[in-house]
Amino acid sequence: MNANTPVSEVYMVGPTYARRLKKLGIETVGDLLYYFPFRYIDYSLTSPIKLAQPGEIITIKGKIISLKNEYTSKGKKIQKGVVADSTGTIEVIWFNQPFLVKVLKPQTIVSLSGKVDFWLKKPALISPEYEIIKSQSQIHTGRLVPVYHETYGISSKWLRSRIAFLLKNLVPQIEEFLPSEILNKYDLIDLKKSIVQIHFPENKKYIELSRKRFAFEELFLLQLSAMDRKKKWQEKKLAQKFLIDEKKVGKFIHSLPFELTNAQKREIKAILTDLSKNKPMNRLLQGDVGSGKTVVAAVAIFVAYLNKVQTALMAPTEILAHQHFQTLTQLLGPFGIKTNILTGKQKQGETNFDLIVGTHALIHKKGKFKKLGLVIVDEQHRFGVEQRGKLIEKGKTPHVLTMTATPIPRTIALTLYGDLDLSVLDEMPPGRKVVKTWVVPPVKRQAAYDWIRKQIKDTHSQAFIICPLIEESKSETLQMIRAATTEFERLKKEVFPDLKLGLLHGRLMSKEKNEILNEFKNSNLDILVATPVVEVGIDIPTATIMMIEGAERFGLAQLHQLRGRVGRSDRPSFCLLFSEHYGENTLKRLKALEKINIGMKLAELDLEMRGPGEIYGIRQHGFLELKVASFTDLNLIEKAKLAAQEILPKINNYPLLQEKLKEYIIRKVLPN
Ligand code: ADP
Ligand code: MG
Repeated sequence: MNANTPVSEVYMVGPTYARRLKKLGIETVGDLLYYFPFRYIDYSLTSPIKLAQPGEIITIKGKIISLKNEYTSKGKKIQKGVVADSTGTIEVIWFNQPFLVKVLKPQTIVSLSGKVDFWLKKPALISPEYEIIKSQSQIHTGRLVPVYHETYGISSKWLRSRIAFLLKNLVPQIEEFLPSEILNKYDLIDLKKSIVQIHFPENKKYIELSRKRFAFEELFLLQLSAMDRKKKWQEKKLAQKFLIDEKKVGKFIHSLPFELTNAQKREIKAILTDLSKNKPMNRLLQGDVGSGKTVVAAVAIFVAYLNKVQTALMAPTEILAHQHFQTLTQLLGPFGIKTNILTGKQKQGETNFDLIVGTHALIHKKGKFKKLGLVIVDEQHRFGVEQRGKLIEKGKTPHVLTMTATPIPRTIALTLYGDLDLSVLDEMPPGRKVVKTWVVPPVKRQAAYDWIRKQIKDTHSQAFIICPLIEESKSETLQMIRAATTEFERLKKEVFPDLKLGLLHGRLMSKEKNEILNEFKNSNLDILVATPVVEVGIDIPTATIMMIEGAERFGLAQLHQLRGRVGRSDRPSFCLLFSEHYGENTLKRLKALEKINIGMKLAELDLEMRGPGEIYGIRQHGFLELKVASFTDLNLIEKAKLAAQEILPKINNYPLLQEKLKEYIIRKVLPN
């Protein structure tokens, strides 16, 4: 038996339990050993019976004198008995566990942990954990007892006994894979000790010490694997070195209808430097909604074109693909660049293009690219690693630029994207208006509707109304569409019968979608009711009001992205947040949007208030789930990073670590 042994082969597990364990993500012996408790119950105070005080949580050790089933006056079965030690006796009560009378027969020596309380005016132990004392040390009573996340048919008690069994049998053969110099330098306890202590800690200090070790281990492996990926990426076959024709690039930039921001200039420079090398670029361009990522991409596309290679730009939605197609055709067309679009619904067009813009349909594109030299992925967090990888594989060794409006706090970027070079557009184009934001209490709903109507009538404004997320989901669900449709009907009939409303959601045919968007763009619609799909990218400068239902369900950064749909002209813009559940925390969280206008700040705030899984709102990011470590622990993240940097160059000296890393990379699908 070793860490890779299927858990079903463990003594007393078998196929049924193995199936249940799978629900907890446990498939191997190693998984089970790394299934850590999320808290501990302190049963470490052992008391002579005589001294047991009502209200205390204690452990007593003694002999069962009697135990029998009784019926209460309400017809419920209780188990009532007496336990004795050398100092006295105490009553013990359990509820609805009739089998106990067979397990705890008179004369059995037991350890009982639980709360002392009054039963019929006498002190008694009520529903204690019990454990028959044999020779081995106790695991359910008389100590800090681990509590695990459970699932149907798997209790903490069951997990405890299986894990204790494994530890007993496996600990001698567990080998440390972290280099000892790292353990020493960062003051970490070794694997053998920590794996025992995290499950069955001797004292509270060991809970801390073992958690620290595993948190470090997790961050260290995460960063080491990212660095390893970066190294491998850079060792890949050479990419085509792009020649940068400064003059032509300058001319293109000069042709833009605006002056670039300093941030855009700086990051364009960084990108061009990457492209002029024969190592393939692997860069993440991060910038708030509206910070102008598209033109930065356009410059890269232009340079690729000058170097006679094709570019593929992948966007997460059809709407966005169409918008990019329009924008880029406008910007680059005059320079002779031929642009195609592929969103799955059109026929494969001609293959003679310089730039192809599309959705994930690009991945399934039949036929080869003539010469794919640059891959751009917009809103990269919407695509899985695999999808990205598949597109990249269509080129030989293309340069890769990924773009995202999702602010990635530094700690996360350090940990997860250690292999990417980061560009941040931290400056908005001039003249952007701050979107005035209000959290609207339910009693003011009607007033808000009236205000919206007045704005529309008086100032020819247009409004988005975003219907809430109904459920956690990676993409739009039928339920969301239904909710948006119902709300659309209601608003049309009952609230705004005098205005022109349109409905936009993902199930519409792409022709319909474009028609509705165009109607809205051309101001033939006053209000666009939509599912959260509009979140990404669409650019309609005449819209100045954003109203969001069920705001509490979104992450702050996501709400910030949504409100970035307005405020795109020099007219004042507004965002109204509605929520049906204003808990104190919800309100505090949402109120932050009234004051803070920087995506990164909001993301960091959410990270603090709700944890990493929530920054991205509906989109689930398995890779964001740290088991033990925390993204807010910058100190440990930085230490682990230093350690990984130290070790990577001499990793060949650490075969066990290499082995672990390999396993780790295979098992975790990480973004890269
Ligand atoms: P995002 O970063 O959200 O993708 P876009 O690239 O769509 O932002 O740009 C948003 C809008 O800002 C577009 O209409 C674009 O033409 C405009 N824009 C981009 N850069 C500048 C700039 N330097 N000055 C003025 N407007 C700009
Ligand atoms: Mg964009």
